[in-house]
Amino acid sequence: MEFEGWSWVPWAAILLVLFFALGWLAARIDLKQLLSESKALPASYFKGLNFLLNEQQDKAIEAFIEVTKANPETVELQFALGSLFRRRGEMDRAIRVHQELSARADLPAEQRRAAQFELAQDFMKSGLLDHAEGILVELNKVNSDARVHRYLLEIYLQEKDWSKAITVASQLGHSANRDRAKDIAHYYCELATAEYVRGRRAEAARHMADALEANPRCVRVSLQSGEWAAAEGRHDIAIETWRRIENQDPDYFGLAAPGIRASFKALNRATEGLALLRGLQEKYPSIDFLNVVYQATLEEDGAERAYDLLREDVRKNPTLVGLDMLLHAQLEHAPVEKRGDLQLMKDLVHSHASALSVYLCGSCGFRARQFYWHCPACGSWESFSPKRTAELETAERHLARITIGQIDNRQ
Ligand SMILES: [Zn+2]
Repeated sequence: MEFEGWSWVPWAAILLVLFFALGWLAARIDLKQLLSESKALPASYFKGLNFLLNEQQDKAIEAFIEVTKANPETVELQFALGSLFRRRGEMDRAIRVHQELSARADLPAEQRRAAQFELAQDFMKSGLLDHAEGILVELNKVNSDARVHRYLLEIYLQEKDWSKAITVASQLGHSANRDRAKDIAHYYCELATAEYVRGRRAEAARHMADALEANPRCVRVSLQSGEWAAAEGRHDIAIETWRRIENQDPDYFGLAAPGIRASFKALNRATEGLALLRGLQEKYPSIDFLNVVYQATLEEDGAERAYDLLREDVRKNPTLVGLDMLLHAQLEHAPVEKRGDLQLMKDLVHSHASALSVYLCGSCGFRARQFYWHCPACGSWESFSPKRTAELETAERHLARITIGQIDNRQ
């Protein structure tokens, strides 16, 4: 009775034998196929492979070229050679390979299109943008492909052809890692600026409205439109336009502070403007804002009030840049015997603060003294933080806090 459970054993043995037999058969068939295929391959192919394995790329390429000359059907190998030439910067050879492939009538249409796409990339890398554009536009007519759109967009951005860039970027639509609407708003801003420079104000305003429609939170529209209104002497409109930034993204408010101050002054409402700016600086502290509020307080209320404001602000938002301003203000009115020490401290802080008083591209880490909407290093749009690096780095904040404590103790 106890052996009844073992009755399946012979069946299992038979299945196991069958399994191995099938495996052996399959391996033999594969091996046969492999041998027949390798016999069909020319010796140069193996020579090329051997060179590749020995990391002798130049010799491998020559061997593979021999294969492709003798066997025009090795299309995939020709594609691989073409991309290899492009990667090595041998553009003439890459272009020749891809031109030959795209002109071959015996190839299926899909492969010819693939060759044209490669050819367009060769032209782009060679700087022949109009050649690349011509091919990509034709490809786009036959087959709307995101890769074709991306390359076309790259070309239009390099050529600063903003209208075409807007059309292609709209076709690309929104993707998980890219906010196209944000970029499209900037293309409209570029169009608007170009029109404004030509004196076509109505067209400029229309493009600005388009930018806002593409991205209602585009701060650049408010900043730029405000500047234009102020330049035309429409200061009320300018102030109103700049104040829109509060609802769009108040982090950028500091960039509008000098304009707000100047427009209020132009309207002979400097005191009212300063009160507004102080309130905004309180709510959205930034170094750019502090700079303007400090200068305005100095002009309106005198040095003592300006110094108090500075000290209060630096205490609340300690940064090396703020401390540098504070030391500068203190130095102006310090008694002669204290000036030596203060100057020493100020020079030391100033050398560090000026290195931190820059804007930083969040995309590539490029640092610049001025704020850019379009990073000159990596080409990203709106990648610069509106805050200066001194406001972003906590270590310096800590250092500033300690030094302020020391200054206060001396007084
Ligand atoms: Zn960048």
